Amino acid sequence: MPQKRPPIPAELRRRVLIEAGHRCAIPTCRHIEVDVHHINPWEECKSHHYDNLIALCPNCHRRANRGDIDRKSLKLYKANLRFAHDKFSNFEMDLLFELYHSPADFAAQWPAYLMLLVKRIIEAGYIQRHETETVAMIGGMKSNPDYLTITAKGREFIESLGLHKIG
Ligand SMILES: [Zn+2]
Repeated sequence: MPQKRPPIPAELRRRVLIEAGHRCAIPTCRHIEVDVHHINPWEECKSHHYDNLIALCPNCHRRANRGDIDRKSLKLYKANLRFAHDKFSNFEMDLLFELYHSPADFAAQWPAYLMLLVKRIIEAGYIQRHETETVAMIGGMKSNPDYLTITAKGREFIESLGLHKIG
């Protein structure tokens, strides 16, 4: 039996539309009539995932389906929107950039009680927290550090923004 395509869940659809301000995600278009488009086609991925969805107007949608706007470009448009929408702090971006330029196996020490400062970039999946067992408490706070590493997705994000070429 052929697999039927389930609708995009309303919450997910809303998140994708809000990300683009309910307009076409192509910055020079910004048409107000929008569809939600799969960057890697549904036939390939068979799933609705936030990272793979982008708001496009019917014209840009057609151009994307034809390949006039390729997947890599769509991912770049998506990354730029996400960058503006998620509003990572300068500190989070600096940390991500720092980890990107560190040796591949590098893990940065990070105090557990300051995890809130890097919460959004961890939630976005760009940085991963490696929790350690509590071995020392000072003033009621775990004083031995946890560790932070950059994920493959974090590297891709830096590269998609073109930030790796600077500095
Ligand atoms: Zn458009």
